[in-house]
Amino acid sequence: MNESWRLSNRGCEGWATFSLLVAGVGSGEIVLHFLKNLGRKRDEPQSFAFSRPLVALHSDDWGRVGVRDREGFELLRSRGLRLGERPYDLYTLETAEDVSALTELLLRHRDVAGRSPCLVMNVCTANLDFSKMRADGFRRTMLLPLSAGLPGSWSRPGLFDAYRAGIDKGVFQPALHGTTHFSDAAAVRALAKNGERAQLLQTFWTAETPYIFWRMPWIGYEYWSPEAAKGGFLSAERQNELVIQSCKAFSQCFGTQPLSACAPGYRANTNTDRAWAAAGIHVAVSGTGDGLRAPFIDEYGILHVYRNVDFEPCEHEPDIEKYLELAALCFARGLPLVISIHSINFHSTLKDFRGPSIATLDRLLSALESKYSELLYVNDEDLYRMVTAGVFADGSAKVRVKVSVNQHAWSQGIAQRGSA
Ligand SMILES: [Zn+2]
Repeated sequence: MNESWRLSNRGCEGWATFSLLVAGVGSGEIVLHFLKNLGRKRDEPQSFAFSRPLVALHSDDWGRVGVRDREGFELLRSRGLRLGERPYDLYTLETAEDVSALTELLLRHRDVAGRSPCLVMNVCTANLDFSKMRADGFRRTMLLPLSAGLPGSWSRPGLFDAYRAGIDKGVFQPALHGTTHFSDAAAVRALAKNGERAQLLQTFWTAETPYIFWRMPWIGYEYWSPEAAKGGFLSAERQNELVIQSCKAFSQCFGTQPLSACAPGYRANTNTDRAWAAAGIHVAVSGTGDGLRAPFIDEYGILHVYRNVDFEPCEHEPDIEKYLELAALCFARGLPLVISIHSINFHSTLKDFRGPSIATLDRLLSALESKYSELLYVNDEDLYRMVTAGVFADGSAKVRVKVSVNQHAWSQGIAQRGSA
């Protein structure tokens, strides 16, 4: 487990300083009678609890290529890599069929308001441009924006149409993960030394695979790498440049700016938050870390949302009862249940992760729906609107949600961010 640390505000216990009512109205929208700013200092962080069971699905790594199916797998094996030791040796890239199968599963499920679960799909907005890099002798990294297609010999017919179909049906909400996922600075350092690490990178790149993290954790994450100076994070200026670049690439791909972001490897600091806020991102997502945490709004106006369940069937057989217990704990505290399930779980070309994952996710959602008749599926945009603008458009007039705001004193603390 790799872990990192992130400065953040941590709220104290004690809810219900005052309540906000989210009530259904005849137009079909839920309107929050929002007692905004009541009795609080301007920059004091607010955290929130919800009166109804809310369930969100978060998923990272979409659009990021890995091992190029059987051909790339055999090529890497022929170069001496013993692939198959861990699930991420078999991480490839989702196909249109994988995405469609997930879309169908989500459409089969409904909450009490008639809405399907909406998977927040965190996207990497570029891949390495292997063709250009090969022509350059693999001496440096070069990027191919996702909007320009897939690099080198990678082929995924219909994939982008499948993403868009799911978005149009409301079962996917694209969000920002990053540009490359790994630390470009770490790759540059390795290439400059021209040693074993450079050789390993060039072996992967020859097979049109960017890297496999567990085999080379020194490669780090987009905003952080273990061997960099000053705690490993990039400077505020560099993070800002990268966020601007990835937001531009995101809008070229999806025709809209990202509202929500989750840093690669969950490695983000306050400079990342500031860059996200400047780019118009309203929701910052953190990993499961070391406990259940309430969503809160920071000094930049960003709503921080914490995942609280790692649901990764590709890694181990999920224990549905255990997840139901976690759900009960979250709901008892007024927290949304935020389920993390990475894209690898829906891959199928080297190993069928998709079939078992869809079956177990189906079981989990069915169990939640039958246990909690009041359950609502929400995405990051819904949560942000509920706590700020007072609107939760769900198409139903029957739903009421009470939102409690904690405005007790906050203290600066160190909040642990989970592993990738
Ligand atoms: Zn990731």
